[in-house]
Amino acid sequence: MKQENLVSFSQSLLEWFDSYGRKHLPWKINPTPYRVWVSEIMLQQTQVTTVISYYERFTKHFSDLSCLAQASVDEVLELWAGLGYYARGRNLHRAAQIAWDTYGEIPPHFEDLIKLPGIGRSTAGAILALALNQSYPVLDGNVKRILTRQYAINDWFGHPRIEKLLWQYAEELLPTERVADYTQALMDLGATVCTRQRPKCSICPIKDSCQAYFLGTQGNYPVPKPQKNPLSLRTTQMVILSNHQQEIFLEHRPLTGIWGGLWSFPECSIETNLESWCEDQFNFNYQVESIKKLPSLRHRFTHFILDIYPVLVQVSSEHNNIAESNQKTWVSTKKAYQLGLPAPTLKLLKKLNEASDLKHMV
Ligand code: SF4
Repeated sequence: MKQENLVSFSQSLLEWFDSYGRKHLPWKINPTPYRVWVSEIMLQQTQVTTVISYYERFTKHFSDLSCLAQASVDEVLELWAGLGYYARGRNLHRAAQIAWDTYGEIPPHFEDLIKLPGIGRSTAGAILALALNQSYPVLDGNVKRILTRQYAINDWFGHPRIEKLLWQYAEELLPTERVADYTQALMDLGATVCTRQRPKCSICPIKDSCQAYFLGTQGNYPVPKPQKNPLSLRTTQMVILSNHQQEIFLEHRPLTGIWGGLWSFPECSIETNLESWCEDQFNFNYQVESIKKLPSLRHRFTHFILDIYPVLVQVSSEHNNIAESNQKTWVSTKKAYQLGLPAPTLKLLKKLNEASDLKHMV
């Protein structure tokens, strides 16, 4: 943004804040570093409407840093009960003890604040800006949403590169005066106008600089966290040839490829006509007596998912002269365990053995 646009951005926001800012919230009244700090921690991952009553009870009971530092953690957690994310309460208490013991106050310097438990860059910025009017930017969820729309940022804000960019924008936009009101204005705008769903752009004081508004793409921002690529799905039909000697037919797989060097049932695509496929594949003189589909099973590889559709094919014993070789063999289901088998073959074999008699399955 050009310098004059930066000025007009903050001016427009401040004018809007003077008329529409949420000045009635309890932490806006007497915003000391302590009171701002407690509110910022409570507001993390929690709605304003939920926080109000907790905040009022908490600050009434622990009216300042020394009260909080001298309380027991149990007392703190008792007042935190129901607000959730209890690590926040424990960190708040621990940070109060450190701040009280080390500085005797909430330290007014960014470098000291950021070292306290539970205080990150944005919370430290909020305490310094809102309570002490110091020039530090804030980048909470509301501000991130506004900035990703203002600059039409087409990437997830959690990427370190994007987060760095957002901090840079947040710093550039900071006005030289009324930093507290400006910071509050950004937060209030995000909560009431530039909302997650259906932002009210027509009444937005900064719509003139908003690229998403210009492009009509407000709904695209912020870009959600990218999902990991879903694994692709493959299918195969495993043919369990069985003869009247209670044997099954196994093939030795090539050394390369999946299950390389292991023994498994022959495979074909799920659309294949099995009778013709058996003839083509094995070129032997036999009769297919029955074909039965068995329940499918799913096997996960690192890069894909394999849905296996097993089919039990009973062939006549007198003609089952499928050529055996080093690479192909008839074997009893019990003996098959002595061969190296991939997990799905093993699973199917167990099912066959559980059926005790292959004929029961056909
Ligand atoms: S114009 Fe709309 S999308 Fe842009 S900052 Fe304002 S409310 Fe948000």
